[in-house]
Amino acid sequence: MIKIENLVRPNILTLQPYSSARNEFSGKEGVFLDANENPYGSLNRYPDPLQKKLKEKLSILKNIPTQNIFVGNGSDEVIDLAYRIFCNPELDKALTFTPTYGMYSVSAAINNVKLEAIPLNEDFQIEIEKVKPYLADESIKLIFICSPNNPTGNMINQKDIEYILANFNGIVIIDEAYIDFSASHSLINLIDNYNNVIISQTFSKAWGLAGIRVGLAYANEEIISFYNKIKPPYNISELNQSAAIKQLDSEIVNNTVSKNIRKITAERERLILALNQLTFVTKIYQSDANFILIEFENANEIYFNLLEKKIITRNRVSQVKNCLRITVGTQQENNQLINALKNTQ
Ligand SMILES: *Cc1c(COP(=O)(O)O)cnc(C)c1O
Repeated sequence: MIKIENLVRPNILTLQPYSSARNEFSGKEGVFLDANENPYGSLNRYPDPLQKKLKEKLSILKNIPTQNIFVGNGSDEVIDLAYRIFCNPELDKALTFTPTYGMYSVSAAINNVKLEAIPLNEDFQIEIEKVKPYLADESIKLIFICSPNNPTGNMINQKDIEYILANFNGIVIIDEAYIDFSASHSLINLIDNYNNVIISQTFSKAWGLAGIRVGLAYANEEIISFYNKIKPPYNISELNQSAAIKQLDSEIVNNTVSKNIRKITAERERLILALNQLTFVTKIYQSDANFILIEFENANEIYFNLLEKKIITRNRVSQVKNCLRITVGTQQENNQLINALKNTQ
């Protein structure tokens, strides 16, 4: 067991957190004259700072106790707060495996923390021999592992993740933003075995609610309590909490989310078959996500050709040679993409 407190920034350990009016009295009935709210209107009250109702639904769905759940203003807040809890600016470092999601490095730069990057191997997997020297570096406090990885689309091997977890005296964040599109299961149960792991998920992708900015962190109670200690008091608005709850209910009652996931993954496989027919497509990477990384003979040319036809894809040439990352759309959108690509031949 790792002593989490030893990893936390001293000023965060001793921080006196803001105590909101709604934290001090949590009953529903009463005459609320404590928070300087307006007595009129329907969204006049501050939202529940700890999102209890949302967490109770998630707790049932994920089979995880509510005290192991943190709700963030998107997973981007989960990432940012991790830097703020664990990394002393200028002194501490973080580590990730590239190519990967850009926010780990942007958030590192904002927090004045150096992010080390180890290239993934040609199968986009972690090379454990390359990681070993970093695991011994005590200035590294955080490791980000994105699985399924963005922009490559593949899962990272569980045995390599577990090797890192078992041999690192710091925090490991496994970013599972795309896990619901994957044929493999989430590693959420690792929180039972390792007290230094954070599993990050989101409502933005498979749950279809990028507009509401709700991200999740699952971890042991001690880590979650530091998240709660430093988060902005009302980080999830009433509107966003209720939209997330509504989507969870809709999945529980009608499987709406699962049905859409199945549609998207079926379209992904159809897209792959269609793309395989194109001579200028030189490689299609296997995907466990709702996007596909595709290598072209000349990706930049394809990118601008598509853009002219108002089909916007993600140019990843700077990260992976001659590659575009293309999100799986509706059947009709995907047909438009396929036709546009055929016409560039
Ligand atoms: C899209 C994405 C997220 C989601 O971020 P939100 O802030 O929750 O919208 C997180 N991680 C990765 C790797 C992503 O691609």
